[in-house]
This record gives sequence, C-alpha cells and structure tokens, in this order.
Amino acid sequence: MQVFKFGGASVNNTDRIKNVAAILRQYSGQPLLVVISAMGKTTNALEKVAEAFYRGEKDQALQLFEQVKTQHLTTAKYLLVKNALACEARLRDFFTEVEWLLHDKPVRNFDYYYDQIVCTGELFSTSIVSAYLNEEGILNEWLDVRDVFRTDDNFRDAAIDLSFTAKRVASGVVPLFEQHNIVITQGFIGATDENESTTLGREGSDYTAAVFANLLGASSLSIWKDVEGVMNADPKLFPEAQLLRELNYDEVIEMAYYGAQVIHPKTIKPLQNKDIPLHVKCFLEPELPGTVIHNQSISGLPPIIVVKNDQVLVHLHTQDFSFIGEEPMSRLYEIFAAVKIKPNLIQSGAVSLVVCLDNRSDKIDQFASLAAALFDVQVEKGLRLLTIRHYNDTVLQQLTAGRKRVLVQQSEDTVQLLLS
Ligand code: ASP
Ligand code: MG
Repeated sequence: MQVFKFGGASVNNTDRIKNVAAILRQYSGQPLLVVISAMGKTTNALEKVAEAFYRGEKDQALQLFEQVKTQHLTTAKYLLVKNALACEARLRDFFTEVEWLLHDKPVRNFDYYYDQIVCTGELFSTSIVSAYLNEEGILNEWLDVRDVFRTDDNFRDAAIDLSFTAKRVASGVVPLFEQHNIVITQGFIGATDENESTTLGREGSDYTAAVFANLLGASSLSIWKDVEGVMNADPKLFPEAQLLRELNYDEVIEMAYYGAQVIHPKTIKPLQNKDIPLHVKCFLEPELPGTVIHNQSISGLPPIIVVKNDQVLVHLHTQDFSFIGEEPMSRLYEIFAAVKIKPNLIQSGAVSLVVCLDNRSDKIDQFASLAAALFDVQVEKGLRLLTIRHYNDTVLQQLTAGRKRVLVQQSEDTVQLLLS
C-alpha cells in the first residue's frame, strides 16, 4: 500500500486533473490511498466567503460562493460525460449545505463557521477527480474523510484523535481496498464527535496523508508538487539552487522549523515513527526521481539556505537594570503563548534581550504592549533573517556581503543572521 498526496496546483484545471489520471495509470494494480487538496486557490476563495458571512454581508458571501460553485461545475462539465449527473448531484448537495448556513446569522465563533465552509473545497475537488478517474477506467472509491478522521473541536487547528481514527481506518478504509485498488479522499479536514466539520490548519493535507500512511502501514508516502523536489534554497531567490536527492527526517524538521516552505512540519513525525519513506515528486515530470526523505543519516549536504523577510526585532530592557533571570524569562514565554507567536530567534544579555518575530502587526502590537509591563520596549522593523545549515565561510560571505549583521547566532551546523 502506498499513499499519494496531490496538492491544489496539481488539480487546478482540467488538464492538470487529466495529468493526475495519467500518473495514477502508471501505478495500476497497486493499492493506493490518494489524498487530494482543494483545487488551486479554492481554499483562499472559501476563506473570503466565511469572512463576508461573519461580517454579516450575506449577499456578498453568497455571491463569492457562487463563483466557487461555477468554477467547479464548469470543471466537472468539461471533464465528465457518463458520471456528469451523479457528480453534479453530489456537488449540489455540498453547495446546499453551505448555502443553508450562509442564510443564517452567525451565532457561534468565526472559527466554527470557517471550518464548515472551508472544508468543502476538498470535498468538491475529490468528488470531481474521483468521478473523472472512474470514467477513465481508473476505478476508485470516494471516501469522505470526515467519517474517518475524528478530531477535537479546536476549529481551524483541530487535533486528530489518533486512537479513534486508527479504529476507523481499520474498519472503514482497509475494507474499501477489497473492491478497488484506489481510494480517493481529502486531506486537511475532519469531524468532531458531533459531526461538525473541522480543519487541521492551512496546508494540512500533507499531514493527513502522513497519518494515513502511518495508520495503514504504507510502504511509502509520495507528495506530488509542482517543483522538482526539495531544493537547498528557494530557486526564486537563488537561481543556482540545487535539488537535494536525499534528506533525513530530522533535517527536514530543522528546515521547516527555520521557515523553509518544504512540507508541513507535522508531516514528518507519523512517518518517522514507522520508518516510512517520503518521496517529494514533480507531477509535471513524474519520471524525475525527486527527493526521498528517510531515517538514514546523510553526509555531505550542501549549505541549505532559508530566508525569512519582513522580520521585526524587539529589544527588551529591564526597567530597573536588574539582571534578566528566570522570572522575567518565564513571564516572557507566557506572553508568547498568550499572543500565540513563535519567536524566530532570542538572544539574551545581562539586562536586555532581543526577540526576532515575523511582522504580523496585530501580534507585534499586542506583544509589545504586554511586554511593556516588564521591560522598556523598542521595535526595529524591516529586517531579513537568514538561516544557513551546513554553512561554510564562502557562503556566509556571499550571502551577507554589503549588509549589516544586526544579530548572529551560530552553532556547529547552523548559523542564523539577522540582516538589515
Ligand atoms: N486546501 C488546504 C490549503 O490550501 C489544505 C492543503 O492543501 O494542504 O491550505
Ligand atoms: Mg497545498
């Protein structure tokens, strides 16, 4: 058994969906559980629907939703012949549920409505792709993952109830493979014990696929993307970026931690626990080898570069020039938790410390005002955080030439530089 995950870009239009079919055809006869994201930018579009609804702009919400509907109905119409009516009927059932909700007035919190609306993107895309594959003779079973993935009710960032979900996978998913080799389902969404839809956080489909791989004891997970594989730097910023053919789990976790947009960081643990290799492959050129991520340690990696722009450095100075001890430190971490921000870098001295954060103005303001109860606070904006793993002097010189180093933190294998 293998698990595949196709992201939004891979099912963005009819040609891309045909391309997915061509890839799956290569694997005919092999059991595959296939997780598919919402088409293209559908999730963003549905977020706009949820926001308009919550602002009380019902007509606007309905109109925005109409665009999402049209786009999916049009795609289905172009792709399907035999299964057109059945697929359209299923899509319309999902549409109706959302429209009912949009006709109500919001009485619960935003995150709840967000999940009820946004979860439909993956239901639409998988319904269309499943119907198309069946028409093409790639016989598959469509599965509503909300019947399998049980979560808590922390809407928009729901946590999976693994033991319940494991039982459901055994009783509700494994038997599907007796009928067909392919099961098509959604990532990113789940349901509470009260059958309310939930989402696992943006870009959460990789994570769903990894949990499936773990619970099914899959031989591998393949994530199909529009890039060649994992690169050592963002090719948009560094044209000489190179493909990393092999990485180990810990390296990927480190890269994600420092802000590399490789794969959702939660994806690794479920795979690592069962030693399941992760392939990152290009859906545009499926014959390319891509990157494989596994447990073996790898030596001789080139420098891996992660850039985070729009950074803020907050300078905190004790008000009475007392040393910074456990007390202000623990208060500081309480503030991080209260504001829900993760510092990208912290450096402390005797009477002052500096904290590097992503520039999210609402959070920075909140953080600064809470911290002002303990410290004198100064905020410096417009910085760039550069992280280099496996650095050497040459790269370090190259990447920092002509820029002022505001802060440097260095360990044996990683250097972080905050540049102005
Ligand atoms: N469709 C969701 C998103 O765009 C989940 C995913 O694709 O991973 O965030
Ligand atoms: Mg995606």
